[in-house]
Amino acid sequence: MQRLTAQRQAILDLINASNRHWDADEVVRALVDAGASIGIATVYRGLAALETQGLIDSIQLADKKRYERADKAHHDHMICTSCGLIEEFSHDTIEELQLAAAAKKGFRLTGHQLVMFGYCSQCAKELKA
Ligand SMILES: [Zn+2]
Ligand SMILES: [Zn+2]
Repeated sequence: MQRLTAQRQAILDLINASNRHWDADEVVRALVDAGASIGIATVYRGLAALETQGLIDSIQLADKKRYERADKAHHDHMICTSCGLIEEFSHDTIEELQLAAAAKKGFRLTGHQLVMFGYCSQCAKELKA
């Protein structure tokens, strides 16, 4: 494998160290807080390169991409549009139905992303109150 620059290695280490779903701004803040001198453009380029190399995964949200570790089992996401909480889930029937839908179109799936938007249980409770 191609050797990573120190900055890209730092980005990769940060993302691999937790189960979070990071956006580029959060990555910059965390690295700068840890004493690095790195700017947003470098982080954007680094995230894109790491994703191309398959070292991290991303989910595309309405307004931005978020990145996560690439070594987790396949899962999909639910996103709270009020507080930003991201829940991971995986549902066998949904997975099977996607394969069936693709097969019906003669489409050979290489992957998919499913993002569901709504209110998490906490925010749903507060909205009702
Ligand atoms: Zn919420
Ligand atoms: Zn995830």
